Amino acid sequence: MTATTDAPLEPGAVIGILGGGQLGRMTALAAARLGYLCHIYCPDPESPAFQVTPLKTVAGYDDEAALAAFARAVDVVTLEFENIPARAAEAVAEQAALRPRPEILKICQNRIREKDFCNAAGVPTARYAEVRDPGALERVLQEIGRPCLLKTCELGYDGKGQVRIGPDTAATEAWAEMTGSAPGPAAAGVVEALVDFRLEISVIVARGPDGGCRTYPAVENRHKNQILDVTIAPAPISPELAARADAIACRLAERLDLVGLLAIEMFVTRDDEVLVNELAPRPHNSGHWTIDACVTSQFEQVVRAVAGLPLGATDLLAEATMKNLIGDEVQRWRELLADPNAKLHLYGKKEARPGRKMGHVTRLKPRG
Ligand code: AMP
Repeated sequence: MTATTDAPLEPGAVIGILGGGQLGRMTALAAARLGYLCHIYCPDPESPAFQVTPLKTVAGYDDEAALAAFARAVDVVTLEFENIPARAAEAVAEQAALRPRPEILKICQNRIREKDFCNAAGVPTARYAEVRDPGALERVLQEIGRPCLLKTCELGYDGKGQVRIGPDTAATEAWAEMTGSAPGPAAAGVVEALVDFRLEISVIVARGPDGGCRTYPAVENRHKNQILDVTIAPAPISPELAARADAIACRLAERLDLVGLLAIEMFVTRDDEVLVNELAPRPHNSGHWTIDACVTSQFEQVVRAVAGLPLGATDLLAEATMKNLIGDEVQRWRELLADPNAKLHLYGKKEARPGRKMGHVTRLKPRG
Protein backbone atom coordinates (compact mmCIF):
# COMPACT_ATOMS: atom_id res chain seq x y z
CA MET A 1 0.00 0.00 0.00
CA THR A 2 2.97 2.29 -0.49
CA ALA A 3 2.02 5.84 -1.53
CA THR A 4 3.83 6.13 -4.85
CA THR A 5 2.04 9.14 -6.30
CA ASP A 6 1.14 12.56 -5.00
CA ALA A 7 -2.58 11.76 -5.21
CA PRO A 8 -4.23 12.72 -1.92
CA LEU A 9 -4.85 9.90 0.53
CA GLU A 10 -8.48 8.85 0.59
CA PRO A 11 -10.43 8.82 3.86
CA GLY A 12 -9.87 5.46 5.57
CA ALA A 13 -6.16 5.42 4.63
CA VAL A 14 -3.61 4.71 7.34
CA ILE A 15 -0.94 7.19 8.42
CA GLY A 16 2.03 5.69 10.25
CA ILE A 17 3.61 7.80 12.99
CA LEU A 18 7.08 7.09 14.36
CA GLY A 19 6.95 8.03 18.04
CA GLY A 20 4.13 7.78 20.55
CA GLY A 21 4.36 10.91 22.71
CA GLN A 22 1.92 13.79 23.01
CA LEU A 23 2.79 15.08 19.54
CA GLY A 24 1.86 11.73 18.01
CA ARG A 25 -1.29 11.64 20.13
CA MET A 26 -2.47 15.07 18.99
CA THR A 27 -1.58 14.25 15.36
CA ALA A 28 -3.63 11.04 15.56
CA LEU A 29 -6.61 12.96 16.97
CA ALA A 30 -6.44 15.46 14.09
CA ALA A 31 -6.06 12.65 11.54
CA ALA A 32 -9.17 10.94 12.90
CA ARG A 33 -11.20 14.09 12.22
CA LEU A 34 -10.21 13.86 8.57
CA GLY A 35 -11.26 10.22 8.40
CA TYR A 36 -7.79 8.67 8.57
CA LEU A 37 -6.49 5.98 10.89
CA CYS A 38 -3.10 6.25 12.54
CA HIS A 39 -0.70 3.43 13.27
CA ILE A 40 1.73 4.41 16.02
CA TYR A 41 5.22 2.89 16.24
CA CYS A 42 6.91 3.29 19.61
CA PRO A 43 9.07 1.14 21.90
CA ASP A 44 7.28 2.25 25.09
CA PRO A 45 4.01 0.34 25.69
CA GLU A 46 2.78 3.17 27.94
CA SER A 47 2.97 5.77 25.17
CA PRO A 48 0.27 8.50 25.32
CA ALA A 49 -0.52 8.12 21.60
CA PHE A 50 -1.54 4.47 22.02
CA GLN A 51 -4.58 5.62 24.03
CA VAL A 52 -6.20 7.30 21.03
CA THR A 53 -5.70 4.83 18.19
CA PRO A 54 -6.08 1.04 17.98
CA LEU A 55 -3.27 0.41 15.47
CA LYS A 56 0.12 0.08 17.08
CA THR A 57 3.54 -1.53 16.94
CA VAL A 58 5.50 -1.76 20.18
CA ALA A 59 9.08 -2.32 19.05
CA GLY A 60 12.50 -0.70 19.15
CA TYR A 61 13.94 1.64 16.53
CA ASP A 62 16.64 -0.97 15.89
CA ASP A 63 14.11 -3.65 14.94
CA GLU A 64 14.34 -3.42 11.17
CA ALA A 65 11.89 -6.26 10.56
CA ALA A 66 9.24 -4.54 12.72
CA LEU A 67 9.92 -1.19 11.03
CA ALA A 68 9.55 -2.72 7.56
CA ALA A 69 6.31 -4.51 8.54
CA PHE A 70 4.96 -1.26 10.01
CA ALA A 71 5.83 0.69 6.86
CA ARG A 72 4.19 -1.94 4.63
CA ALA A 73 1.00 -1.75 6.69
CA VAL A 74 0.46 2.00 6.21
CA ASP A 75 -0.03 4.43 3.30
CA VAL A 76 2.46 7.10 4.36
CA VAL A 77 4.76 7.56 7.37
CA THR A 78 5.48 10.68 9.35
CA LEU A 79 7.15 11.21 12.72
CA GLU A 80 6.78 13.06 15.96
CA PHE A 81 10.46 13.22 16.90
CA GLU A 82 13.50 13.64 14.70
CA ASN A 83 15.97 11.43 16.56
CA ILE A 84 15.01 8.31 14.68
CA PRO A 85 18.23 6.38 13.97
CA ALA A 86 19.30 6.86 10.33
CA ARG A 87 19.08 3.12 9.62
CA ALA A 88 15.51 3.00 10.98
CA ALA A 89 14.45 5.91 8.78
CA GLU A 90 15.97 4.17 5.75
CA ALA A 91 14.27 0.85 6.59
CA VAL A 92 10.94 2.69 6.66
CA ALA A 93 11.65 4.75 3.54
CA GLU A 94 12.40 1.57 1.56
CA GLN A 95 8.79 0.44 2.10
CA ALA A 96 6.72 3.64 2.28
CA ALA A 97 6.90 7.35 1.62
CA LEU A 98 8.53 8.87 4.72
CA ARG A 99 7.51 12.51 5.07
CA PRO A 100 9.72 14.38 5.93
CA ARG A 101 12.38 12.50 3.95
CA PRO A 102 15.33 10.84 5.78
CA GLU A 103 17.89 13.44 4.55
CA ILE A 104 16.00 16.15 6.48
CA LEU A 105 16.21 14.09 9.67
CA LYS A 106 19.94 13.74 9.18
CA ILE A 107 20.34 17.52 9.07
CA CYS A 108 18.03 18.22 12.01
CA GLN A 109 19.59 15.52 14.23
CA ASN A 110 22.93 17.25 14.41
CA ARG A 111 23.51 20.83 15.52
CA ILE A 112 26.56 21.32 13.29
CA ARG A 113 24.85 20.01 10.15
CA GLU A 114 21.79 22.12 11.03
CA LYS A 115 23.79 25.34 11.42
CA ASP A 116 25.92 24.63 8.33
CA PHE A 117 22.71 24.10 6.38
CA CYS A 118 21.16 27.37 7.61
CA ASN A 119 24.27 29.40 6.84
CA ALA A 120 24.58 27.85 3.38
CA ALA A 121 20.98 28.92 2.79
CA GLY A 122 21.91 32.48 3.77
CA VAL A 123 20.14 32.22 7.15
CA PRO A 124 22.27 33.44 10.07
CA THR A 125 22.88 31.59 13.36
CA ALA A 126 24.97 32.38 16.44
CA ARG A 127 28.72 31.95 15.80
CA TYR A 128 29.68 28.32 16.38
CA ALA A 129 32.45 25.77 16.06
CA GLU A 130 32.61 22.00 16.35
CA VAL A 131 34.72 20.39 19.10
CA ARG A 132 35.66 16.75 19.47
CA ASP A 133 37.88 16.77 22.57
CA PRO A 134 38.81 19.06 25.50
CA GLY A 135 41.99 20.22 23.71
CA ALA A 136 39.99 21.44 20.74
CA LEU A 137 37.57 23.11 23.16
CA GLU A 138 40.41 25.15 24.65
CA ARG A 139 41.37 26.43 21.19
CA VAL A 140 37.77 27.13 20.13
CA LEU A 141 37.15 29.15 23.31
CA GLN A 142 39.87 31.59 22.18
CA GLU A 143 38.05 32.01 18.89
CA ILE A 144 34.40 32.23 20.05
CA GLY A 145 35.13 34.00 23.36
CA ARG A 146 33.40 33.71 26.75
CA PRO A 147 30.69 33.47 27.96
CA CYS A 148 29.46 30.82 25.57
CA LEU A 149 27.60 27.52 25.51
CA LEU A 150 28.89 24.02 24.92
CA LYS A 151 26.18 21.67 23.62
CA THR A 152 26.19 18.07 22.50
CA CYS A 153 25.84 17.88 18.73
CA GLU A 154 23.20 15.18 18.97
CA LEU A 155 20.36 14.07 21.24
CA GLY A 156 20.24 17.19 23.41
CA TYR A 157 16.85 18.74 24.11
CA ASP A 158 15.27 20.96 26.78
CA GLY A 159 18.78 22.10 27.81
CA LYS A 160 20.06 18.54 28.31
CA GLY A 161 23.71 18.09 27.34
CA GLN A 162 24.25 21.87 27.55
CA VAL A 163 26.92 23.65 29.63
CA ARG A 164 27.44 27.39 30.11
CA ILE A 165 31.08 28.38 29.99
CA GLY A 166 31.83 31.46 32.07
CA PRO A 167 35.08 33.46 32.44
CA ASP A 168 36.61 30.91 34.85
CA THR A 169 35.22 27.59 33.58
CA ALA A 170 38.01 25.10 32.76
CA ALA A 171 37.66 23.46 29.35
CA THR A 172 38.22 19.98 30.81
CA GLU A 173 35.45 20.50 33.40
CA ALA A 174 32.99 21.81 30.80
CA TRP A 175 33.75 18.84 28.54
CA ALA A 176 33.24 16.36 31.41
CA GLU A 177 29.96 18.05 32.35
CA MET A 178 28.66 17.95 28.79
CA THR A 179 29.53 14.30 28.25
CA GLY A 180 28.16 13.41 31.71
CA SER A 181 24.79 15.17 31.29
CA ALA A 182 24.15 14.08 27.72
CA PRO A 183 21.36 11.52 27.33
CA GLY A 184 23.35 9.47 24.78
CA PRO A 185 26.96 8.98 23.72
CA ALA A 186 28.46 12.42 23.18
CA ALA A 187 31.06 12.06 20.45
CA ALA A 188 31.09 15.72 19.53
CA GLY A 189 30.05 19.09 20.83
CA VAL A 190 29.36 22.53 19.44
CA VAL A 191 30.46 25.76 21.07
CA GLU A 192 28.03 28.60 20.48
CA ALA A 193 28.48 32.28 21.23
CA LEU A 194 25.98 33.34 23.90
CA VAL A 195 23.31 35.41 22.17
CA ASP A 196 22.11 38.48 24.05
CA PHE A 197 18.56 38.07 22.87
CA ARG A 198 15.59 40.38 23.41
CA LEU A 199 13.18 37.54 22.95
CA GLU A 200 12.90 34.02 21.57
CA ILE A 201 10.43 33.33 18.79
CA SER A 202 9.44 30.44 16.57
CA VAL A 203 7.69 30.02 13.26
CA ILE A 204 6.04 26.83 12.06
CA VAL A 205 5.83 26.28 8.32
CA ALA A 206 3.96 23.56 6.45
CA ARG A 207 4.85 22.43 2.94
CA GLY A 208 2.90 20.02 0.78
CA PRO A 209 4.12 17.64 -1.96
CA ASP A 210 3.24 20.32 -4.56
CA GLY A 211 5.72 22.73 -2.92
CA GLY A 212 3.03 25.07 -1.54
CA CYS A 213 4.00 26.63 1.83
CA ARG A 214 1.94 28.12 4.64
CA THR A 215 3.35 29.65 7.81
CA TYR A 216 1.80 30.32 11.19
CA PRO A 217 2.39 33.75 12.70
CA ALA A 218 5.61 34.04 14.73
CA VAL A 219 5.11 33.43 18.45
CA GLU A 220 7.16 34.37 21.51
CA ASN A 221 8.53 31.52 23.62
CA ARG A 222 9.50 31.92 27.27
CA HIS A 223 11.52 29.16 28.90
CA LYS A 224 11.88 28.07 32.51
CA ASN A 225 14.85 25.83 33.37
CA GLN A 226 15.43 25.67 29.58
CA ILE A 227 12.05 23.99 29.04
CA LEU A 228 9.34 25.87 27.14
CA ASP A 229 7.00 27.39 29.72
CA VAL A 230 4.78 29.86 27.88
CA THR A 231 4.06 30.69 24.22
CA ILE A 232 2.48 34.02 23.33
CA ALA A 233 0.65 34.22 20.00
CA PRO A 234 1.27 36.36 18.08
CA ALA A 235 4.75 37.45 19.20
CA PRO A 236 4.96 41.11 20.23
CA ILE A 237 7.27 42.07 17.36
CA SER A 238 7.03 44.56 14.49
CA PRO A 239 5.41 43.45 11.21
CA GLU A 240 8.81 43.86 9.55
CA LEU A 241 10.48 41.43 11.98
CA ALA A 242 7.58 38.98 11.69
CA ALA A 243 7.93 39.09 7.89
CA ARG A 244 11.66 38.37 8.15
CA ALA A 245 11.05 35.36 10.43
CA ASP A 246 8.38 34.16 8.02
CA ALA A 247 10.72 34.47 5.04
CA ILE A 248 13.41 32.46 6.87
CA ALA A 249 10.91 29.67 7.54
CA CYS A 250 9.81 29.49 3.90
CA ARG A 251 13.35 29.57 2.58
CA LEU A 252 14.45 26.70 4.87
CA ALA A 253 11.38 24.58 4.05
CA GLU A 254 12.05 25.02 0.34
CA ARG A 255 15.78 24.32 0.56
CA LEU A 256 15.02 21.15 2.56
CA ASP A 257 12.41 20.11 -0.01
CA LEU A 258 10.20 19.51 3.01
CA VAL A 259 6.91 17.66 2.95
CA GLY A 260 5.38 18.08 6.39
CA LEU A 261 6.03 20.65 9.10
CA LEU A 262 9.14 22.50 10.16
CA ALA A 263 9.42 24.49 13.38
CA ILE A 264 12.19 27.07 13.48
CA GLU A 265 13.33 28.42 16.86
CA MET A 266 14.96 31.83 16.57
CA PHE A 267 16.53 34.53 18.73
CA VAL A 268 15.68 38.19 18.20
CA THR A 269 18.76 40.13 19.31
CA ARG A 270 18.72 43.56 20.93
CA ASP A 271 19.56 45.12 17.56
CA ASP A 272 16.77 43.18 15.85
CA GLU A 273 18.85 40.54 14.14
CA VAL A 274 17.06 37.21 13.70
CA LEU A 275 19.29 34.17 14.36
CA VAL A 276 18.16 30.57 13.97
CA ASN A 277 18.75 28.36 17.02
CA GLU A 278 17.13 25.03 16.15
CA LEU A 279 15.01 23.24 13.56
CA ALA A 280 12.42 20.53 14.24
CA PRO A 281 10.83 18.78 11.22
CA ARG A 282 7.56 17.95 13.02
CA PRO A 283 4.78 19.50 15.10
CA HIS A 284 6.27 21.61 17.89
CA ASN A 285 5.37 22.51 21.44
CA SER A 286 5.26 26.20 20.49
CA GLY A 287 2.44 25.39 18.05
CA HIS A 288 0.02 23.81 20.51
CA TRP A 289 -1.98 27.04 20.74
CA THR A 290 -3.01 26.56 17.08
CA ILE A 291 -5.43 23.78 18.13
CA ASP A 292 -7.72 26.29 19.80
CA ALA A 293 -6.81 29.58 18.15
CA CYS A 294 -6.25 28.96 14.42
CA VAL A 295 -8.43 27.96 11.49
CA THR A 296 -6.19 24.89 11.01
CA SER A 297 -4.13 23.44 13.87
CA GLN A 298 -0.50 22.42 13.33
CA PHE A 299 -1.62 18.81 13.82
CA GLU A 300 -4.29 18.97 11.13
CA GLN A 301 -1.76 20.76 8.92
CA VAL A 302 0.88 18.05 9.21
CA VAL A 303 -1.77 15.46 8.36
CA ARG A 304 -2.85 17.51 5.34
CA ALA A 305 0.75 17.95 4.18
CA VAL A 306 1.79 14.30 4.44
CA ALA A 307 -1.54 13.06 3.04
CA GLY A 308 -1.22 15.37 0.02
CA LEU A 309 -4.38 17.35 0.88
CA PRO A 310 -4.51 21.10 0.26
CA LEU A 311 -3.03 22.98 3.23
CA GLY A 312 -5.49 24.74 5.53
CA ALA A 313 -5.60 28.44 6.41
CA THR A 314 -3.30 29.44 9.27
CA ASP A 315 -5.17 32.61 10.29
CA LEU A 316 -5.64 33.39 13.97
CA LEU A 317 -9.17 33.17 15.34
CA ALA A 318 -8.04 34.74 18.61
CA GLU A 319 -4.88 35.88 20.32
CA ALA A 320 -3.70 33.15 22.66
CA THR A 321 -1.28 32.23 25.43
CA MET A 322 -0.21 28.61 25.87
CA LYS A 323 1.17 27.47 29.22
CA ASN A 324 2.86 24.09 29.50
CA LEU A 325 1.89 21.98 32.51
CA ILE A 326 5.18 20.49 33.62
CA GLY A 327 5.50 17.89 36.37
CA ASP A 328 3.25 18.72 39.33
CA GLU A 329 1.71 21.74 37.57
CA VAL A 330 -0.77 19.30 36.10
CA GLN A 331 -2.40 19.03 39.55
CA ARG A 332 -3.94 22.45 38.84
CA TRP A 333 -6.33 20.97 36.24
CA ARG A 334 -9.46 21.64 38.33
CA GLU A 335 -8.64 25.30 38.90
CA LEU A 336 -7.66 25.76 35.21
CA LEU A 337 -10.97 24.38 34.04
CA ALA A 338 -12.82 26.98 36.12
CA ASP A 339 -11.73 29.65 33.61
CA PRO A 340 -14.23 29.52 30.72
CA ASN A 341 -11.62 30.91 28.29
CA ALA A 342 -9.04 28.26 29.15
CA LYS A 343 -8.71 25.17 26.96
CA LEU A 344 -7.10 22.32 28.87
CA HIS A 345 -5.20 19.49 27.14
CA LEU A 346 -3.92 16.55 29.15
CA TYR A 347 -1.65 13.93 27.60
CA GLY A 348 -2.74 10.88 29.61
CA LYS A 349 0.66 10.33 31.24
CA LYS A 350 0.47 8.46 34.53
CA GLU A 351 3.52 9.76 36.37
CA ALA A 352 4.11 13.52 36.84
CA ARG A 353 7.91 13.42 36.99
CA PRO A 354 9.80 16.75 37.35
CA GLY A 355 10.42 18.31 33.94
CA ARG A 356 7.90 16.02 32.22
CA LYS A 357 5.36 17.68 29.91
CA MET A 358 2.00 16.49 31.25
CA GLY A 359 -0.36 18.79 29.38
CA HIS A 360 -0.92 22.39 28.39
CA VAL A 361 -3.55 25.06 28.75
CA THR A 362 -4.35 27.64 26.08
CA ARG A 363 -6.08 30.84 27.10
CA LEU A 364 -7.86 32.70 24.36
CA LYS A 365 -8.01 36.46 24.61
CA PRO A 366 -11.69 37.40 24.71
CA ARG A 367 -12.58 39.56 21.71
CA GLY A 368 -12.98 43.18 22.86
P1 AMP B 1 18.32 24.52 22.80
O1 AMP B 1 18.48 23.19 23.46
O2 AMP B 1 19.40 24.83 21.81
O3 AMP B 1 16.94 24.74 22.24
O4 AMP B 1 18.47 25.60 23.96
C1 AMP B 1 17.54 25.71 25.01
C2 AMP B 1 17.45 27.15 25.44
O5 AMP B 1 18.75 27.62 25.89
C3 AMP B 1 17.07 28.14 24.34
O6 AMP B 1 15.68 28.19 24.15
C4 AMP B 1 17.64 29.44 24.89
O7 AMP B 1 16.82 29.97 25.92
C5 AMP B 1 18.95 28.99 25.51
N1 AMP B 1 20.02 29.08 24.51
C6 AMP B 1 20.39 28.11 23.64
N2 AMP B 1 21.40 28.51 22.85
C7 AMP B 1 21.69 29.77 23.19
C8 AMP B 1 22.64 30.74 22.74
N3 AMP B 1 23.54 30.48 21.77
N4 AMP B 1 22.65 31.95 23.36
C9 AMP B 1 21.78 32.24 24.36
N5 AMP B 1 20.87 31.35 24.84
C10 AMP B 1 20.82 30.15 24.27
